[in-house]
Amino acid sequence: MLNGTFRNITTDWSERQSSIQKRLLYNDRISALRENEYPMLRGTMYLDHAGTTLPSRSLIRVFARQLETTILANPHSSSSSSPNASQYNATKTRRQVLELFRADEEHFDIIFVANSTAGIKLVSEAFTGHENGFDYYYHQDSHTSLVGVRELANHSHCFESDAEVERWIEEVQLHKDKIDAPRPKLFAYPAQSNMNGRRLPLSWPSTLHGSGAHPNTYTLLDVAALVSTSPLDLSDHTAAPDFMVLSFYKMFGFPDLGGVIVRKSAAHVFEDRKYFGGGTTEMVTCTGKPWVERKKSNLHERLEDGTGAIHSILALQCAILAHYKLFGGFDQISRHTGWLAKRLYDKMVDLKHANGRSACRIYKDPVSAYGDARSQGATIAFNICRSDGTWIGSSEVRDLAEKRNIHIRTGSLCNPAGMAFALGLNPGELQKLYETGFRCGQEDDVINSVPLGMAKSYLEGHISG
Ligand SMILES: *Cc1c(COP(=O)(O)O)cnc(C)c1O
Repeated sequence: MLNGTFRNITTDWSERQSSIQKRLLYNDRISALRENEYPMLRGTMYLDHAGTTLPSRSLIRVFARQLETTILANPHSSSSSSPNASQYNATKTRRQVLELFRADEEHFDIIFVANSTAGIKLVSEAFTGHENGFDYYYHQDSHTSLVGVRELANHSHCFESDAEVERWIEEVQLHKDKIDAPRPKLFAYPAQSNMNGRRLPLSWPSTLHGSGAHPNTYTLLDVAALVSTSPLDLSDHTAAPDFMVLSFYKMFGFPDLGGVIVRKSAAHVFEDRKYFGGGTTEMVTCTGKPWVERKKSNLHERLEDGTGAIHSILALQCAILAHYKLFGGFDQISRHTGWLAKRLYDKMVDLKHANGRSACRIYKDPVSAYGDARSQGATIAFNICRSDGTWIGSSEVRDLAEKRNIHIRTGSLCNPAGMAFALGLNPGELQKLYETGFRCGQEDDVINSVPLGMAKSYLEGHISG
């Protein structure tokens, strides 16, 4: 009797394991999905999902039907007490986005913006509005759009390693010498590197707030690359970053829209923001003493300048629904892409020329491991070398791949410090190269036998391994 029960449990367990395993693999179910939902993929292998993923047919059809049957008037043409369809949709979509990240409306708001970059600019605009300015700290794995914030700061510092970040989080004195007036600090980093897909610790914001070493410090987490193939769980609002930026086209392929998720406990930062645009004010006077009263009812009404992206917001709602219908959530996408990336990585590492020399140099971070979703996303950054050890330029790799209908991304990949570090280039060398005429993204990018670009494959749920 006992034995029987035990056997049943183990059979159930192993059946469950094999059904999980089946869902990971590139199988008939995925092939059918690819065929029916992504007709643009016929005959091609699209490995540039980090650039943008592709929209499903279901999403486009539902969106077209909705557009045909809904009057989307300007949201400012009606009042918040009797909302029109555009306002109603925006409220509903906001709720759905927050639910996607298990973020409680009581603690979070989402501001719709054009893309992650616009979200980063909106956050930095609030900090520039502070009377003493702000200090900026960022990780070297940052996307160019996070790096640019330093130009607005009174003082900025780029962390060259995780260890340096962790020391700074605990230490009060580091970099204090440069500070001459009390001003807020902003600490920014990507949850996943857009260059090599390495995932950075999500624990830094909560240890930073908990350490007490840096009062008046806020955290900006760039989740644009992470959430394209991973769930993000904000159910513990106390451990969440203050601001998170993302681009929805990277998650769903459409619409071209971005968002800033703001933890309400940090929303006061936006009171220092100077600019106001249409729709964000209660009343404005221009003659005499200029006066403006800004909307106070909620953060997004105050920050979304001008007419909202009403059609894109409706499309986002359709995209979330289609995503659940086709994939059942980002957990599923994370497992499948993790499996695909590990398979590709293992094969590329093993690729050798006849003389035994490795054909690929892969820029994996030493602390990450393919197959481990906590440390590595589904991106592979690489260069290819010939059997004599010389490098093949990344644009040539792209052209060769294109001939075989494989889409990859090549060039400098919008990650300046991460690229330089991976390629072993120091700032002095880069400046010298610039002076001799080299430009990021140029076609011939092997200079003095050193590769200055790289290629990147990024895997999503519907490509072949
Ligand atoms: C794509 C990306 C961005 C920029 O997104 P945009 O939509 O171009 O503004 C920023 N950070 C990371 C990590 C990205 O992957």
